[in-house]
Amino acid sequence: MRVIVCSNYDEMSKQAAKLVAGQVNLKPNCVLGLATGSTPIGLYNNLIQMSDAGDVDFSEVTTFNLDEYYPISKDNDQSYDYFMNKHLFSKVKMKNHYIPNGETSDPEKECTDYEKRIESEGGIDLQILGIGQNGHIGFNEPDINLNTVTHLTRLTESTIKANSRFFENINDVPTMALTMGIASILKSRKIILLASGRAKHKVVSELLNGEINTSIPASMLKVHPDVVLICDKEAYTSMYLGVDIGGTHIKFGVIDDENHVLYKDSIRTRKRGKAQIIMSEIGAACKEIIKKYPISGIGIGTPGIIDKKDNRVSAANLPFDNDPIVDYLKEYIDLPIYLDNDANCAALAECKAGVHEDDLLMITLGTGIGGGIILGGKIYSGKRGDAGEIGHMCIQSDGIRCSCGLVGCWEKYASVSALIEQINDAAQKNPDCIMAQIIKEENGAADGETVFKAMEKGCPVANEVFDKYLSYLATGINSVANIFRPETIVLAGGITAQGDILLKPLQKKLAANINVKISRLQNDAGIIGAALLAKLSQ
Ligand SMILES: [Zn+2]
Repeated sequence: MRVIVCSNYDEMSKQAAKLVAGQVNLKPNCVLGLATGSTPIGLYNNLIQMSDAGDVDFSEVTTFNLDEYYPISKDNDQSYDYFMNKHLFSKVKMKNHYIPNGETSDPEKECTDYEKRIESEGGIDLQILGIGQNGHIGFNEPDINLNTVTHLTRLTESTIKANSRFFENINDVPTMALTMGIASILKSRKIILLASGRAKHKVVSELLNGEINTSIPASMLKVHPDVVLICDKEAYTSMYLGVDIGGTHIKFGVIDDENHVLYKDSIRTRKRGKAQIIMSEIGAACKEIIKKYPISGIGIGTPGIIDKKDNRVSAANLPFDNDPIVDYLKEYIDLPIYLDNDANCAALAECKAGVHEDDLLMITLGTGIGGGIILGGKIYSGKRGDAGEIGHMCIQSDGIRCSCGLVGCWEKYASVSALIEQINDAAQKNPDCIMAQIIKEENGAADGETVFKAMEKGCPVANEVFDKYLSYLATGINSVANIFRPETIVLAGGITAQGDILLKPLQKKLAANINVKISRLQNDAGIIGAALLAKLSQ
């Protein structure tokens, strides 16, 4: 099956029209197989325009429609007879057009005659098909026996429901139809299959990725030597939405099949209020994004501890206190939703879209130290779901007390918050040094950059602070590297923007075989990783 992916419905319709016109120009008295439904209307409009412009002449063309409801009268505005007259036959002159007769009192004879008529006209040169959400073509619904010619068939509940939008009342939808069978369709010399819109995405990917299967009648087309699937991006491409919940901002990102970020945005994180309120705001933002992009799944990265059993989250900087945040979000969104720790998501992003290593350790330096472990291309978070909290490994047995209850935790020494404390301490002890002056000029508030500004101006105190900080950082990295021996350790966080100023002296303090890189994805790692959770889970 050849596949042509078009940017949108209009492009798809134009492409299909070109192929149909090409067929008619090649063989002016050809036989076309036509389909109804909303998908081919654009194609018919294009054919009408081309005919009006004199680019193609249909006057010798004979057409056969795939199907018709049964029973139904021709003047019923829901009959396919009515549809074809309205959208094509009243506007383009043709030699002959045939549609199964929904008014017949002998449907079996009508079917046999219809099949014979196709044969007597020489068979169908080019058949146009749409595809139903359940994979039906014509009215050939999923069934064990699909080796059929034109026949009377009962419609499935799902097709009746899908078609009820065209009728006033679902009870008005006919329950039977006359349809060309799969065997009749496969006799066509060429086939164009059209698919448009997000609603068709699932069936198109099943069709392209799956085996031939009677539960997806369209998959039978795979045995035909000349089928072209023309679809728009919405029907073809999978997109995933990643949500990265942080203490100050909640970020949203849409990625495509190739992990490219197509869209991103953020909202401020509400400081007060319950978890339900935060999740309702996230739900509202997601809903807007889903309207614009064909999202197949949503991934969420959150700080804190996740209880894997029922996805309950507790996080210190957020009002999440053993809250089932996925359940809250499901009240607004009807898509699969996946959840993991934010540091794990960032690590997954590096694995699949950043450094591309299957064994890696991600270390995020910020208020604390976040850790994400990837082993064999997968997040490792342990059975309980809280492994990888490397910020709380002990590097000093009689050290500073940590909020986790232990003493000497790595993040009390090597996080950016720890660095700021070390800067302030040193400045207090050396009030005349350049670094102390810089802090004064900046109204007494040091930040992570202060030490770099002071080093640039040649402050020996700053050099000493930074060297000591790097030793703390290296102690932790050397330890975790010995445990996991990852191919790469990826560092992220604002401080890593210093690049080689940080990396070069750090490397000197590390064991020789440790490969440390700075994250390329940085702030996008969270949204990419969260979206990847959804992508890899499907
Ligand atoms: Zn701790």
